[in-house]
Amino acid sequence: MSSEPDLRSPPPVPAGGRSSHPGLSRSPAPGPPGDTDRSPRPHQGSTAIPHTGLQFHIQVGLRRESVSMRPQEASFGEARELALHLILNQFPDASTFQLRPAHLLLFRHDQNSKNILLRLSSCDLIHEGDLIEVVLSGSALKSVREIFPHILQVHSYKVPTFCNHCGEMLWGLVRQGLKCAGCGLDFHKRCAYKIPNNCSRNSCFPPHKAGQKDETCWTPLSLQAPWAVGASSRRHPQLGGRPPWMDQLELGHVRVPHTFHVHSYSRPTVCQQCWLLLRGLFRQGMQCRDCRFNCHKRCMEHVPNDCLGEAPMLNGEEGQNSEAGHPLGKGKVEIRLSDTRLLDKVEDDPNPDRGSLSDWRQDPHDEPLSVTNSGNIPLMRVVQSVRQTNRSGSTVLKEGWLFHHSQTDTLRRRHYWRLDSKNITLFQNDTDSKFFKRFPLSNILLVRSCPESQHCFELVTGCNTFYVGESKLPPAQTLRPPGQEPIPGESQAWEQAIRQALRPVTSQPSLGTSQREADSGLPTHEGKDISAAYQIFPDELLGSGQFGVVYGGKHRTSGRDVAIKVIDKLRFPSEQESQLHNEAIILQELQHPGVVNLDAVFKDPDRVFVVMEKLRGDMLEMILSSERSRLPERLARFLTTQILKALHYLHSKNIVHCDLKPENVLLASDDPYPQVKLCDFGFARIIGEKSFRRSVVGTAAYLAPEVLQNKAYNRALDMWAVGVIVYVCLSGTFPFNEDEDITDQIHNASFMYPIHPWHEVSSAAIGLINSLLQVKIRKRCSVDRALCHPWLQDFQTWLDLRALEMRLGRRYLTHECDDVLWQLHAAKHGLEYPAHLVTAHSPAEGIEEAP
Ligand code: ADP
Ligand code: MG
Repeated sequence: MSSEPDLRSPPPVPAGGRSSHPGLSRSPAPGPPGDTDRSPRPHQGSTAIPHTGLQFHIQVGLRRESVSMRPQEASFGEARELALHLILNQFPDASTFQLRPAHLLLFRHDQNSKNILLRLSSCDLIHEGDLIEVVLSGSALKSVREIFPHILQVHSYKVPTFCNHCGEMLWGLVRQGLKCAGCGLDFHKRCAYKIPNNCSRNSCFPPHKAGQKDETCWTPLSLQAPWAVGASSRRHPQLGGRPPWMDQLELGHVRVPHTFHVHSYSRPTVCQQCWLLLRGLFRQGMQCRDCRFNCHKRCMEHVPNDCLGEAPMLNGEEGQNSEAGHPLGKGKVEIRLSDTRLLDKVEDDPNPDRGSLSDWRQDPHDEPLSVTNSGNIPLMRVVQSVRQTNRSGSTVLKEGWLFHHSQTDTLRRRHYWRLDSKNITLFQNDTDSKFFKRFPLSNILLVRSCPESQHCFELVTGCNTFYVGESKLPPAQTLRPPGQEPIPGESQAWEQAIRQALRPVTSQPSLGTSQREADSGLPTHEGKDISAAYQIFPDELLGSGQFGVVYGGKHRTSGRDVAIKVIDKLRFPSEQESQLHNEAIILQELQHPGVVNLDAVFKDPDRVFVVMEKLRGDMLEMILSSERSRLPERLARFLTTQILKALHYLHSKNIVHCDLKPENVLLASDDPYPQVKLCDFGFARIIGEKSFRRSVVGTAAYLAPEVLQNKAYNRALDMWAVGVIVYVCLSGTFPFNEDEDITDQIHNASFMYPIHPWHEVSSAAIGLINSLLQVKIRKRCSVDRALCHPWLQDFQTWLDLRALEMRLGRRYLTHECDDVLWQLHAAKHGLEYPAHLVTAHSPAEGIEEAP
């Protein structure tokens, strides 16, 4: 294109006011489709075009413009430049595809030739008044942005998974998010609308069968045949009447699948795929959890992936009703028969038998849907940020030969040192399994560099100091046995390795706290390094959850075992940081045998460390590892009473736990009837007796309906959770099935007790569960009432609790006032009342609380 001033014509008015090539002028209204094969018409009405050069018309799709080229500049390249400017003027979106003149093919309309269109390769063949058709070359299609569509499928995750777009957890029990079968990435459904179609196709994840018939394309869409792209509206760029980049833009949209679950309709509803009635009395069809699209189960696989999207997050779970924030606006709603358009469809049905409104019999085409809840979801660890591992031994961090002596033993020796995450072990040689000396890392109080001494560094423990390594290499003439030659820098490397092992999960020592942290009121050891006081054992993973990872550890000076919860602040948005301190703030208020004891809190710029007493495991582990993966009623009663006692204490202090679940109920020992303690106060709230709160809390499977509905909640929230805990203890399953939407099931409280295993469970237990799983808050059993429930007022439970109290030497689960009642009960029913319990109460035990 010439950069000289244009002497030929006044600048033409650019279409839509956009940039213009000097040779371009606007044509009259575009010719009708099919007009392209006619001879060009005189350009009446076009903007003034001075006849200063070669005049002709360029046509792109249905747009046509008159152009002129000065004779001295007339060239094929210039003609393509003009054509490109026309494209960019008329179709600004095309600029994203970085078209170049070389991508354009020019054809001259010639009615007299056999082909009508004559391919041009030079400007000589362009004559005054010609109509030149512009076509994109194949190379242009290759070079335009290739679209690799994600192949998104609804996925149920068994391990905690984070969205690859926003980084947040994929919440829920089943069908938590979308997985791309192409690249294996995971997304919230709400995020799928924001991602580009840039699938890397490097996944070994096999695409689903259902509904994925046209999804398994592994080539970029720009190179595909239209039928490979599927969807009726998608046409091949070169076959359609519109320019290819428009198809490209459309193909760029990520196609989002529906998240179907079985749904029971209370009103006559029509399948939005085949437009026939969803028949049956209940569980008539499938509904998309998010956009509420309805269809038959048999039609599900034919529904295109065009979900309008889920509602925004609500209390950490996907909400149901709100549409705010959705990129495509309001979702589809359940279609009623009052919708005349649909009624027409039904009435038009040539086979009225299939769609009669009065016919509510089960459709023979539909697979019969079970009416029992026997397909309840098996109990599992719902949220865990790190895969649970065996409490395995330590892995070796460094090993090698080192010289050392100590304050108490001044003889310089050389041993084979092996450093792991818990100990430093000194061997006579590198093959021996017997060791000469071992000292736990938790005993090391200080590591001191000694560059000026003969040794390299010192390890200070409570009762000794070890002088280790060589700070300077010995003179060359010093003879060493073969294999004992010093390695330069090796002692310094050991010092570094030991320092690192002493603070395994802390990247740097704790620094001073920011003003925001200082304002949080957290009882932290300001500016102190946790590694100075505690040894964290990174190999001893005790558990993990939504907030943090819990490691075993040791208090250096006392040798006390501890559990250290490490909360990585960077995993949470900064506005949630105060929430991360919540646990420590609440725990420091609590002192009860049924609540985990807080030792200390530390923090560094990236992490919060909550140091607690170390317990043996959690109740979930106990349920999952027990015979038949459920607990006998006797044990369930024993544990439930302890949970209720701890809750009684919490509620008396106006503290609501808000995240009660078996994972957060810790066991103090391996005893078959162990003491339990509540932990994880990350979501706990201070809520007065008559007060309510409304904020994000908890874990979906244990959440009460009021929280899922974003209504105000109070301490009754914990009681709902106790109901779910008792249910899962006794059955080994959640009280929900996989097919129906879990929130629907909770809202309807449509819990059923399938014959297996509930025929083995007492009606009293079911009675307590029912009184706890009450949707209406005011009908839900309180902690006091639950403690008095007949299922828990059981002689054996009394004896088990008393036995525990005797072992612990403190009475907090039973009350002495009841001793006589249970003695009378035993006498009346001919039961043996253990003699040692008759005089069990002694002042030393101390009564802490009345039920
Ligand atoms: P989160 O807030 O991340 O859920 P938790 O405090 O619930 O973290 O701890 C996660 C898991 O770690 C628990 O489910 C439990 O298995 C284990 N755990 C927590 N605290 C202790 C402890 N004091 N002793 C032993 N194990 C613990
Ligand atoms: Mg937890």
